[in-house]
Amino acid sequence: MIFMHIRTRFAPSPTGFIHLGNLRSALYPWAFARHNKGDFILRIEDTDLERSSQEAVDVIIEGMAWLGLDLDEGPIYQMQRIDRYREVVKQMLDSGLAYPCYMSEEELNTLRDQQMANKEKPRYNGLWRPEPGKTLPPVPDGVSPVIRFKNPIGGSVIWNDAVKGQIEISNDELDDLVIARPDGTPTYNFCVVIDDMDMNITHVIRGDDHVNNTPRQINIMKALGGTPPVYAHLPTVLNDAGEKMSKRNGAMSVRDYQKAGYLPEAILNYLARLGWSHGDAEVFTKEQFVDWFDLESLGRSPAQHNPEKLLWLNHQYIQNSDPVNLAVSTKPFAHEMGIDTETGPDFVQVVSLLKDRANTLIEIAEGAKLFYLPAPNLSVEQIKENIAEAVIPALKDLVEAIASSTPTKEAYAAVFKQILAKYQIKMPALAMPVRYALFATTQTPAIDSVLVVLGKEEAVKRLSKVIQ
Ligand code: GLU
Repeated sequence: MIFMHIRTRFAPSPTGFIHLGNLRSALYPWAFARHNKGDFILRIEDTDLERSSQEAVDVIIEGMAWLGLDLDEGPIYQMQRIDRYREVVKQMLDSGLAYPCYMSEEELNTLRDQQMANKEKPRYNGLWRPEPGKTLPPVPDGVSPVIRFKNPIGGSVIWNDAVKGQIEISNDELDDLVIARPDGTPTYNFCVVIDDMDMNITHVIRGDDHVNNTPRQINIMKALGGTPPVYAHLPTVLNDAGEKMSKRNGAMSVRDYQKAGYLPEAILNYLARLGWSHGDAEVFTKEQFVDWFDLESLGRSPAQHNPEKLLWLNHQYIQNSDPVNLAVSTKPFAHEMGIDTETGPDFVQVVSLLKDRANTLIEIAEGAKLFYLPAPNLSVEQIKENIAEAVIPALKDLVEAIASSTPTKEAYAAVFKQILAKYQIKMPALAMPVRYALFATTQTPAIDSVLVVLGKEEAVKRLSKVIQ
């Protein structure tokens, strides 16, 4: 077997809204390159000046960095390669691979109407295509021509798509593609070919909305003496309602997920499974993903976005995260909510306590609020209403026992057990008033852990206020 240095690329057009599904087209070529110790390149296809925006470029670059999709080359902007495309157009004209076509827009429209009326497929009729022995029409004055590629006549284009299997398109279906506009600017399909060739791309992994472009691209590449790469066309990602993902029907960008408190590891894992599988593995590390990734296991039918599954995965990652790292990721969310994590209980401990029940970093930060709010200033009425007179003796005992206990979850649990037995009451009868005394709410995580995190001194101080 000949050793092949694998080179893949992600070639987004920075137009419109970049949603999560779009980044899947970055993840797979990245994983394929990493798996094969090859190179991964980012190419920004920004030749559509009207629709391209810096904002979209930023979303792409930030999103990839956040997910850890590192680059070996790029970002390469097509707009900076215009001279190169023009140079190839010229070479193709000189070598007869392309020709100027002076057919006006109007003539093209008339042609199309005639073809439609005859129930034929509308296509350019080759009027200006030079052939041996053919006389071309006289060149009209003052008309700038488009440049067309001389597509092969007869035969067909065949490629073995790594996802879709063998695809064959007859050359009769393809007319002579415009590769440069009258003002000399190169067209989309042409730039893609020049780039894939110049960048030595070995595997093109992209959305299947490009299947129709592929035979045209292969023909141009072959005409230029290139070897077409392996193509893997990924089925679309549908939203949870089974529609094409778009901003209008609620698709979110990677940045939106970041703001909603998702972990990049969870998003990466989720995206990986959106059209690819490895046995029944659902939760795996980035390293495992790279290790396992292959084109053979790409799905053939459209993948469907499943927000519940993503949330579930995020929960898995949060639950299994190291509390120190998780605290670092959660801090910005806490600060955003006005929590001063530097004063009050140790934030790592707070996060540790909350992580098993949280689905997002926002939920952790929300839960953390409790520990950083000032001690509640309960009125006599509030105390009366929420703390039964009968439980006061038990509370008094509890405060004393806590004050002299080792400050651990286990020791506090033993203290509670002992007092419940002494007063013949059930846990909620004691825990609820304790929660209320501590925070003016009865919604908190397990009371023994809460006492540890809040700190013995602070807990005793707050409890003492309600038993006087
Ligand atoms: N720029 C194209 C897009 O955003 C992708 C082109 C390609 O991957 O060949 O859909």
